[in-house]
Amino acid sequence: MTVVEFRRELHRHPELSFEEHRTQQFIIDVLAAEGIECRAIAGTGVIAKIEGRRGNLQRAVVLRADIDALPIVEKNDVEYRSEREGVMHACGHDMHAAVLFGVLQAMHAERNFEGTLFGLFQPGEELNPGGASLVLGEKPFEGYNVAAVIGEHVDARLEVGEVGICPGRFMAANDELRFYVSGRGGHAARRNEIDDSVTAMCDMVVRTTALNTPESVVSIGKVVADGATNVIPDRVSAEGTMRTFDQEERQRIHGLLRSNAESVEQKYGVRVEVDINHGYPCVVNDITLAYEAMIVAVDEGLVVRELEPMTTAEDFGYYTELYPSLFYRLGVGKHAGGSHTATFLPDEGALEIGVRMMQRMALHVLNK
Ligand SMILES: [Zn+2]
Ligand SMILES: [Zn+2]
Repeated sequence: MTVVEFRRELHRHPELSFEEHRTQQFIIDVLAAEGIECRAIAGTGVIAKIEGRRGNLQRAVVLRADIDALPIVEKNDVEYRSEREGVMHACGHDMHAAVLFGVLQAMHAERNFEGTLFGLFQPGEELNPGGASLVLGEKPFEGYNVAAVIGEHVDARLEVGEVGICPGRFMAANDELRFYVSGRGGHAARRNEIDDSVTAMCDMVVRTTALNTPESVVSIGKVVADGATNVIPDRVSAEGTMRTFDQEERQRIHGLLRSNAESVEQKYGVRVEVDINHGYPCVVNDITLAYEAMIVAVDEGLVVRELEPMTTAEDFGYYTELYPSLFYRLGVGKHAGGSHTATFLPDEGALEIGVRMMQRMALHVLNK
């Protein structure tokens, strides 16, 4: 099977996060046909293992692709468009899985490397708690010395033939914020008989957005105070998001949100609850791997774009917390359009480049 055929098969049959049953079976069948050892992992994922012909087999490289799709009705008019109405590979995870398949296929044919290569087809990237956390919960790399975890994401800001690399902090940790202010509501004209939950929440929101810095983002996008011109409600809620690039900064802001809540409680005589739904950790690229990848890319005739950190999140962050890791962006052309839209259509010319880049990087680390 070719990489393009593999990609189109997944594209036709997209599945939502943690529901990748058909995808999983397809990957297992295709790998088995290639003679590549593999098994299920994290419910609907697949992990493949290829041992090199020489070297210490405990030393390993993990190549990771995500495999889930999104709840979007595809509007592309292509022969391989989604056959599952309302579900679409609109983030390019079909491309990631196909690239990984191509790399495994090529490396299994030769096995001309030292150590062990893992190929991880990870489910559920798009949905908290993220498939990466489930994969790692099964400790699949216990007993191995993992020299690198390598992953990629397609990127329509880059042309085909370009790769984007960012040494160090790359993608943000995202946490969902929910605030609830409760107090004694009542007649808005009798202020001595009520607790002003609305003003208390406004104060809380202003204190929250004051925590923004050039390195971190805190935004409140929803405030609900369902009173009336003359009614102060008993309860006001707010929702928002925060994005940080550093675990310490993340903890610091969490602490400040809680201390601000206490100050608001004292000032207004209300109760303020702060609910933080922890999202994915930051993606921090290993500096050495990132610069080595730049050299490998240039050597492959690709154009390297050094990227600025991105405020979007990726569950790849879980791997970067544990192992030296590299997450880079693969150009799929500006005409691909926006990801997470009904018309996202990456250029398949990027597949062959993606395979070359990932294979060369894996060989580089394994044979080091
Ligand atoms: Zn996505
Ligand atoms: Zn994605």
